[in-house]
Amino acid sequence: MMLYCSKCRVVTDKEACPSCGRKKLRAPEPDDAVLLTAGDVRALEAVFDLLKAKGILSDLYADAKGRRASKERMGRLYVAYRDLERAAEITKKSGLIRNVEEQPSEFEPMSRKKRLFWKVFSLILFFILIWVVVTLSDAVFGWVKQVLFQA
Ligand SMILES: [Zn+2]
Repeated sequence: MMLYCSKCRVVTDKEACPSCGRKKLRAPEPDDAVLLTAGDVRALEAVFDLLKAKGILSDLYADAKGRRASKERMGRLYVAYRDLERAAEITKKSGLIRNVEEQPSEFEPMSRKKRLFWKVFSLILFFILIWVVVTLSDAVFGWVKQVLFQA
């Protein structure tokens, strides 16, 4: 069964919202605005026109809060839940936007494992950096000493 997050306006077949992780989800209503796809506003405008020609109304916003998307920016295209399946199919067939069914990458919450990996990785990088700095300054000091004593 599909569930709807009214905060992020996404549908999911999981228990929690893939965007905010909220578990207070409800069944989607036919009139609920649902995220169809996100991306470059110009591509979305082309999709918007295409859907309109097929009788599907969509909304183009800059974010989930409903701010209007301006040109040369990333935007999000929403359709009513009842049109979602058709709209997704039309969009996919049009080739205007790739990966229609996938959530935009900004929605992908980093898994805990991934986050831990990056924490450890950056820590290791940090120590390597310190080691390089210490080694380098040692070398520089040695070189300066040499130059001074030779003079
Ligand atoms: Zn959410």
